[in-house]
This record gives sequence, structure tokens and C-alpha cells, in this order.
Amino acid sequence: MVMWCYSSVVVTDPGGVPPNWRPLTDEENGDANPLVGSGYGSAQLDPKQSAMVAVSQEIRFCHKCKQFKPPRAHHCSVCESSSYMNSSGRRCILKMDHHCVWVVNCVGALNYKYFLLFLFYTFLETTLVSLLLLRVFMEFFNEGEIDETPGSLAATFITFVLNIAFTLSILGFLIMHITLVGANTSTIEAYEKKTSPKWRYDLGWKKNFEQVFGLDKKYWFIPAYSEDDLRRLPALHGFEYPTRPDLEPLQQH
Ligand SMILES: [Zn+2]
Ligand SMILES: [Zn+2]
Repeated sequence: MVMWCYSSVVVTDPGGVPPNWRPLTDEENGDANPLVGSGYGSAQLDPKQSAMVAVSQEIRFCHKCKQFKPPRAHHCSVCESSSYMNSSGRRCILKMDHHCVWVVNCVGALNYKYFLLFLFYTFLETTLVSLLLLRVFMEFFNEGEIDETPGSLAATFITFVLNIAFTLSILGFLIMHITLVGANTSTIEAYEKKTSPKWRYDLGWKKNFEQVFGLDKKYWFIPAYSEDDLRRLPALHGFEYPTRPDLEPLQQH
């Protein structure tokens, strides 16, 4: 499971911006769906969702890629320099969270869930190993005798300590990301917003969770999305995000 999630994070494209992407004008917004034109899925929104999806009026432009940026996208300088990513060597990532050295990939809109699952399963695994190692010590202290030599016991102890440290650091990371998912904030946005008490993508923790993990419970624990979820949740494609109806886009600054 750990390996499955890990390879999913590594292999899955975090979500690049197609070369011809540009923000929709108001007239276009009426009938054209941005996802259809760009060939990135064909999400059709029902009127209720459409009302919630407020396309940002703030037009963002990436000077390195020399093209427009969708809302919540960020330019990754690490991906930019790794030429295997794309031929042009420039890279804006949809809802970029961070560039992760462990998975040698950016974590963005399309692989954030896989990254979180990877963290979760790694945490479970290291916890399990810690408990197993702990049992070895319990037996040693309780019964006073053990098959192992002092040398191997010391090695087990060091492994145990390192494992505990690793487990705790993953736990910290996991808690941080659970908090971020609950607030519908990427790591980058968490650094950027700082003072703003109202976050326009924050729809309540349940909806925020669904925007990352999908509505289909069967898919919550595996690094994949159901067809239904990809159709009904535009946020999974990374180009547009529902915003809080009570917060106008202009109030964000
Ligand atoms: Zn860029
Ligand atoms: Zn990157």
C-alpha cells in the first residue's frame, strides 16, 4: 500500500497548465466550460455548482512561463530546472502545495490526495514497526533473558529510536496537512495568507475534505478517483475551485 501510494505520487503529473490556457472573460463564462475547451476532462456543472464557482476576476500571469495562471496555481522553480518534466522546461503547477524531494515531484492538485495517503500509510507502517521493536524490549526487561546478543540488542534499540523519531516527524507532517485540508489551504497559500481570517476557498471541513478525497468513500483510502467524482468535482481537475458565496473575489486582499 505504501509503495502503491508512493509510486502514484511520483508518477502522477501534479497538474500543469496547458500552453493555451487563459482566464475566461465574463461573456465566455456564460456558456463555455473552461474544462471542455482545454481537453482536461468534461466536467459539467449543475446550476448550483456554477453559482458557487466564481471564476477569479484577478488575472494572474506567470512571467517565467509567459502565460496566464489559473487560480491557486504556482510556478515551481525546481520543476522548471528538471528538464525531463516537459520540453519547454517551464512549469506552473495547479494548486501547487510544495515540491517534495522525497517523491522527486511536485505535489499539486492532481496528486495531493496520493501524497496524503502515502504519508498516512507510511505513518501506519512505522508505527507498527515501532510497536514490534518495543515488544522485543518488553520481553527483555520482563524476562531478563533474550536470545539476542548485546550487540544486536543495541542495534535494535538504535533502530527503535530512529524509527520513533521518523514516526513522530511524519505524524507532525500528517497533522499539519490534515489541518490544511480542513481549511482548504495549500502549504504555499498557508504561507501567503497569514493574516487573512477569511479564506474564500474554505467551504467547511467536510466540503474541503471532499475536494481532495472525493465523495466516493470506496476511494478515500486508495490513490485513485472514481469516474463520478471526476465528473462532479471540478476542483479535482485543478482549474477552478468553488468559493464561499459570502466572500466576493475582490475582498480577498
Ligand atoms: Zn510558470
Ligand atoms: Zn516542482
